[in-house]
Amino acid sequence: MGRIDLHLHTTFSDGSLPPTEVIALAETAGVTALAITDHDILEGIPEATQAAAAFGIEVIPGVEISSRYRDGELHVLGYFIDPDDAQFQERLALLRASRHQRNPVIIEKLRSLGLAITYEEVTALAGTASVGRPHIARVLMQKGYVTSAKEAFDRYLAAGKPAYVARELPSPADAVTWVREANGVPVLAHPLWVREDGNSLRRLCEELQQAGLGGIEVHYSTHTRQQTSEFLNLAKRLDLLVTGGSDFHGVTKPDIIVGRGKGDLNVHAKLLEPLRQAASTSH
Ligand code: AMP
Ligand code: ZN
Ligand code: FE
Ligand code: FE
Repeated sequence: MGRIDLHLHTTFSDGSLPPTEVIALAETAGVTALAITDHDILEGIPEATQAAAAFGIEVIPGVEISSRYRDGELHVLGYFIDPDDAQFQERLALLRASRHQRNPVIIEKLRSLGLAITYEEVTALAGTASVGRPHIARVLMQKGYVTSAKEAFDRYLAAGKPAYVARELPSPADAVTWVREANGVPVLAHPLWVREDGNSLRRLCEELQQAGLGGIEVHYSTHTRQQTSEFLNLAKRLDLLVTGGSDFHGVTKPDIIVGRGKGDLNVHAKLLEPLRQAASTSH
């Protein structure tokens, strides 16, 4: 059995490569199945599915939804969601609309800091309805204001930095419920983001399990060995599924490789069937 990658972004959200090119990289990496998990949008899935068919690679319909947790964010991945679910589509459209409310305010802040950037430049570069801060970061890179997306976030765009603007976000439980209602399996993304001690992370997962959480993204590009084993133990203890992925974005995270993360990520294909099972028994 080969390797899989259940966390990938394309140009349909804030990744820098179109689905077809992401699929080509997956083929090179020896990936046998993958999930496109663009932020708040499902439109990259058909192109990915078509491109993957030529290589015999399976594409799992996925999504990534940001939610508000304490004063930060918690991301929920959804797998095997029904891309034609009208209610889910409507919910994602509202999330994209909240991006379009926030982004021009970010641009105004950047302009007042003396940076010559317009929202038109950002939407033109993005070319999609799911516009995110990484798109803004790329325009800042192109204009020579920063040399990397990391620098753009560290200096301007991250929470607490001078051009940060919060966006209205659903609660984690709502994000989990929405995925379930679209017949998908909700999974807690990159749990290292939830800066909590082991006990409160466990309590959070137990709470979200009540809402329908099905798994934890145990394997992730930037997890340390110790974090991976900690999250694996948590998943076992709570009887949650184990998933994993690179969170590939292309140029805004240039050190992340499809299917291989920072080089040593290896998400085993055997993790896929339990996830598929969970999706098919949930409705
Ligand atoms: P947004 O969706 O507009 O809230 O932007 C958040 C996205 O920006 C995250 O999902 C990441 O993909 C990306 N991101 C966050 N921090 C950084 C960083 N330091 N460098 C590059 N990308 C980042
Ligand atoms: Zn992203
Ligand atoms: Fe995320
Ligand atoms: Fe992601």
